[in-house]
Amino acid sequence: MTATLNLLVMPKLQKYIQKIRRYKVKLTNLINRIGISYPIEFELIDEIPKELILPCHLGILFFGDFDTFFFKKIEINLNHVFDSFFFNIRNLGGYNFTIKLFYKGVKKEYREMKKSSNKIKIHPTNKFYQILINKRIEENLGMILAITDLPIFSSNNDNILFLFGETHLKHRCCIVSSLKLKEQFYYRPQNRALFEERILKEIIHEIGHLTLGPNHCHNHFCVMKFSKDINEIDEKKKELCETCKIKLNKIRKKYNF
Ligand SMILES: [Zn+2]
Ligand SMILES: [Zn+2]
Repeated sequence: MTATLNLLVMPKLQKYIQKIRRYKVKLTNLINRIGISYPIEFELIDEIPKELILPCHLGILFFGDFDTFFFKKIEINLNHVFDSFFFNIRNLGGYNFTIKLFYKGVKKEYREMKKSSNKIKIHPTNKFYQILINKRIEENLGMILAITDLPIFSSNNDNILFLFGETHLKHRCCIVSSLKLKEQFYYRPQNRALFEERILKEIIHEIGHLTLGPNHCHNHFCVMKFSKDINEIDEKKKELCETCKIKLNKIRKKYNF
């Protein structure tokens, strides 16, 4: 009886499975064409994760049309805050996406301030993380940071759009996007000094996560406080508070440096 039932049902079932597969291909093509992210495209591949040993080598990679001249300032500020945590901070130069990769996984969204008629292409963080992971392994780095002028959204939660920055602790990499740190984004005149202060705070914040962990600090002036907007970034200093400095010292003691 079961065998007869199988004979009757199986061909129909096979047909349905084939139909669903065809729809899946069509839907994937459509999703890629209209630019909605397709997370499976960016499943991160890493070597067997090794434990982070400190001090370590830190690398910085620049994405997009980015002015790299103030690398020295970044290096000075990171060394000032994290002191002996890094053997050295390496400028890994610029990375150019191929056209195919540039468009892979992008979402098209309105910027949040004013609804202009033009949508902006925003990029998933995992697209950067995979390049960072590969570079981190290739260059034998403990951790790696990406700085980009491109707008980004979180691959962990694609409702979080136009991020200032994000850290992937497991893969020991982080990213900072400069777009929303510029006064021009808010339709105000360019202010280079203010922009540099903001980007340095965000860089220190993300490197702070890689060293101190995922938690945020509640001190309003501490660089490790979470900033929901640009005003909150301007409120905080580009320094760790005393509590966070104590945490940093505990890590120093743990690794004996
Ligand atoms: Zn944070
Ligand atoms: Zn703090």
